[in-house]
Amino acid sequence: MMQLRQDDPEADWTIPGAYDVGAGVYRIPLPLPQDGLQAVNVYAVRDGDELVLVDSGWAITEARDLLEQAVKLLDVSLAGVRRFLVTHVHRDHYTLAVTLRREFGMRITLGRGEAATLRTARDRLAGPWVGMLTQLRRGGADDLCREVVGAPVQYDVSDWDDPDDWFDAPEEIQVGTGSWQVHPTPGHTRGHVVFVDPARDVMFAGDHVLPRITPSIGFEQQPAELPLRDYLDSLKLVRGLPDRRLLPAHGPVAPSVHARVDELIEHHDIRLHQIDELIDAGAHTASEAARRMLWTRWGRTFAELDLLGRCLAVTETMAHLDVLVHVGRLSRTEADGVACYTRG
Ligand SMILES: [Zn+2]
Repeated sequence: MMQLRQDDPEADWTIPGAYDVGAGVYRIPLPLPQDGLQAVNVYAVRDGDELVLVDSGWAITEARDLLEQAVKLLDVSLAGVRRFLVTHVHRDHYTLAVTLRREFGMRITLGRGEAATLRTARDRLAGPWVGMLTQLRRGGADDLCREVVGAPVQYDVSDWDDPDDWFDAPEEIQVGTGSWQVHPTPGHTRGHVVFVDPARDVMFAGDHVLPRITPSIGFEQQPAELPLRDYLDSLKLVRGLPDRRLLPAHGPVAPSVHARVDELIEHHDIRLHQIDELIDAGAHTASEAARRMLWTRWGRTFAELDLLGRCLAVTETMAHLDVLVHVGRLSRTEADGVACYTRG
C-alpha cells in the first residue's frame, strides 16, 4: 500500500510513492518501460484544491496507475490536476500529460523551442529515429544506422500532440499564490526550460541538471546546430542565478544546483580536452573518436554500451567536436555527408 512519506535523498529514489520534499512540494517517481534512467520524477505542488505537476511521465499504464495512487495520497484525483508544466519534449516527460489530457482536459505548457521536434514526432512517415539517423550518418557511424533501422520499434504517433500553450522563456508564471520564473535552458533539447520557485527556494531542473549522470546532448528529432555550446551556455545561465535546492527529473533531490553545475562544466571541459587529443591521435570522425573513449560513470567501453548508448556516444562526441571547431581548435570538412575533423 502506497503511503505519503518524507523524502530521503539517501534512499532509492526510484521506488514508487509520493514523497514530501518540504515547502509543499511532492516528488512522485514513475517507472519507464526500458532504458537506463530507471524512473522519472514528477513534482506536484498545490494550487488551491487542485495540483500543478512539473513533468508528467511516460505514457504507459503502469505510470498512469502509480500517478493516480500518488495524487490520491494528496487528496486529489487525476481530474484535480489543473496543469502540467513540462520541462522538455522527451517522451518520459511529456507523453503521459498528452494522454491524460484526452480524458481530463488539463492544460499543458511546453517550451516553444520544442515545436520543430514535436512536428517531426507527430509525422507518421518520419519515424522515431529520423533525427538520430541523420546525426549518425554525419558522424560516420553507418554500422549503427543499419542496427537502428533493423531494431524493433515501439512507437505510437498518437502519444504526441501539441501543448495548449508555449513558454516563451524567460518569463514569469503564476502557480497558486506564487510567481515562478521560467528560464530557457536549451542543450539537452532545444526548447528545454527550468522552473524556479523563489518562495520555496527550489529549482525544478528537468534534465538540464541531473545529480548523478550527465544529460544527453541533442538527442532529439530536430537538433540545434551546436547543442553542446547551447548546453554549456545554459549551465552558465543557471550558475548565475541564486543557488537553490535541486529538484531533478532523474535522481534524488540535492541541496545545491551550483555544486552540480560546477561538476557538469568540469566534466565537459575534460571531455573537450580528451576529444581534442583523439584527433591528434588519428581519429577523424565522431564515430572513430567515440569508440576510443570510455562511457557512463562506470567507465564502460563503447562496445559494452547498448544500441541507444552507442548512438548517444557518437552524437555527443560530435557535439563536442563541433564546439572545438566553433572555438577554432579544430577544422571540419564534410564529404559525402560525413563530418571529418582535423587540427588547424
Ligand atoms: Zn528525462
